[in-house]
Amino acid sequence: MKIIDTHCDALLKLWEDRSRSFTNSSDIETNFERLSQGGVAAQLFAIFIEPELPSDEKYQVALEQIDLFHTEVIGRHERMKKIENWSDFRLLNEDEIGAMLTLEGADAFGNDLNKLKNLYNLGVKSIGLTWNNANLVADGVGESRGAGLSDFGIEVVKLNNEHQVLTDVSHLSVKGFWDVMDLADYPIATHSNSITLCGHRRNLSDDQARAMFKKNGLVGIVFNPPFLTETGTASIKDIVRHIEHFCALGGEKHICLGSDFDGIAQFVKDLEDASKYQLLINELLKYYTEEQVAGFAYNNFLNFIPKD
Ligand SMILES: [Zn+2]
Repeated sequence: MKIIDTHCDALLKLWEDRSRSFTNSSDIETNFERLSQGGVAAQLFAIFIEPELPSDEKYQVALEQIDLFHTEVIGRHERMKKIENWSDFRLLNEDEIGAMLTLEGADAFGNDLNKLKNLYNLGVKSIGLTWNNANLVADGVGESRGAGLSDFGIEVVKLNNEHQVLTDVSHLSVKGFWDVMDLADYPIATHSNSITLCGHRRNLSDDQARAMFKKNGLVGIVFNPPFLTETGTASIKDIVRHIEHFCALGGEKHICLGSDFDGIAQFVKDLEDASKYQLLINELLKYYTEEQVAGFAYNNFLNFIPKD
């Protein structure tokens, strides 16, 4: 079954070490060969900027990661197709893998909406407002102040709406989450699980999950063991538990998969990289109909994205 995965950090790994090859480096969990083996039909690639970088360097680093996306991910692989318009997802051939740029943390554009517009122009179609720290848009979930959107952040969400760009709440403070729910046309949590099943600050409460589902938003189940179980070790069954819980809250048509491969240091047993994806699908097919699993795997995403 084909897969659309809403979060990976392969661009950061390529940026950190230019000797790595997107084609087949063993330390890239979403490398081209693994995506192919796993049946991944489209992968969202996050631009992630280390928070400790001086702010005036962050935009430059975002541009460097976008360049790596074009040269290493797209340029060297004829079968990798850049997603430029939402309709491109539906135009992919069987043997093609769609690749879409996303941003993880508004730090990259500081206080400059022109920089944000340039990121849209380069193909960034989802904006994660924060990582764990605070920036000029909002506080991340690790910020003790816990503030929501700034006035500038409100402008950013409105600009996302205007450009049919997704607003990603993963990593955002709880207050920021609710501010986004009031404003965003296309809210998504690209990589977040249920806090009821695993009490990690990165996960969503039942109220948050319900609000997302009610608003036709999307929640991507993340494969990071510390977000799956209290013990920090996890099997594929734990992913199924989170899906089951979200389904019980009305999320059947609003769940997708956001592995966080290349951004995690621990792995779900038997799901250590993108090549193993069909093992998860096989497990899901034991509990859900083919149509339901196709929803989680790709159809819910396709039904969610803007029409252009
Ligand atoms: Zn993340």
